[in-house]
Amino acid sequence: MTDKSIPLVDVRHGLAIQRKQIDAAIARVIDSGVFIGGPEVEAFESELADAVGARHAIGVSSGTDALLVALMSLELKPGDEVITSPLSFFATAGAIARTGARPVFADIDQDLCLDPTAAAAMMSGKTQAIVAVNLFGRPAALPDTMVPLIEDAAQSLGAGPVRGRAATVSFFPTKNLGAFGDAGAVLTDDDALADAIRLRRSHGARPRHHHVAVGGNFRLDALQAAVLRVKLPHLEGWSARRRENADRYDRLFRESRVADRVVLPARDPDCRHIFNQYVVRVKSRDLVRARLDAAGIGTEIYYPVPFHLQPCFANLGYAAGAFPHAEHAALESLAIPIYGELTEAQQETVVSSIAAFVQHNVGAAR
Ligand SMILES: *Cc1c(COP(=O)(O)O)cnc(C)c1O
Repeated sequence: MTDKSIPLVDVRHGLAIQRKQIDAAIARVIDSGVFIGGPEVEAFESELADAVGARHAIGVSSGTDALLVALMSLELKPGDEVITSPLSFFATAGAIARTGARPVFADIDQDLCLDPTAAAAMMSGKTQAIVAVNLFGRPAALPDTMVPLIEDAAQSLGAGPVRGRAATVSFFPTKNLGAFGDAGAVLTDDDALADAIRLRRSHGARPRHHHVAVGGNFRLDALQAAVLRVKLPHLEGWSARRRENADRYDRLFRESRVADRVVLPARDPDCRHIFNQYVVRVKSRDLVRARLDAAGIGTEIYYPVPFHLQPCFANLGYAAGAFPHAEHAALESLAIPIYGELTEAQQETVVSSIAAFVQHNVGAAR
């Protein structure tokens, strides 16, 4: 539920058109009595693999568990290092730490994603993997290294093919393809890695009761798979509408009186951005956000605290100032509504509300 006239997101959007199919899918699972794994999960995995053009799609319990089981399947050892961006949802760094490996951060680029040059500079003899985050739905530029690359594609399903050894996706309800609860998947073209992930998804048992690796319970529920099967064919269309809305925001901001004070998302014609979020950068961000809140416009800050400044990573020994681009972005970033149902009039309201405030209160950005 939301009390905003223009919410940041409403997870019920788009459900009306498929409500009958969703109800039928849920009833089918209830009647089948198969609630974990089984034919719904297998059918969803093969439909998802086809949709993204990957050899394997492995359904798991969440985007977090997708990262965790992919990293566990690389057989990382304590003391190994995994390089990633300091600016992402916590799961990216949390999953690395949970394997026993050490998260190593490198600063971000103009596009708010891991800077490939900075990442390459952090490579050491201990580096066993790099996790590149396709932040907000934009495929990150990838460093060219010999270690396995995992794409955290939680926000970018449908933005393009798997480019790393594996890509992990999330079906958290606010992602572009959202389940009715927690769900995720790992996508890969690597047969051996897919097998290692399937093994660890269910406590490493092969055969049953004989555990050849320590995994976890990372399984996907049949109910979530059945719901996702109904929604998956709509993903392309939803992403297209987000992209149209993003183009319209770009134009509206450029035409506004505050074009010099609002930094728009970096655009690149070679890069298919699917805008899970549309994030602008503005000075006095918290004041702008309060103004939008008062006007009934939902916003969010992704992400206010970079990983290297999180209390749980104090042991890694990073100081404030270590990653100036990420720290600067954390202070200025503001996600504004971008969902497909957003109307042109609503977008004009969002832009004019920002402009009305910024024009009088905020200096030019950067
Ligand atoms: C949502 C998200 C995750 C985690 O996904 P869950 O399904 O919520 O566990 C991981 N990384 C990024 C970048 C995300 O946005």
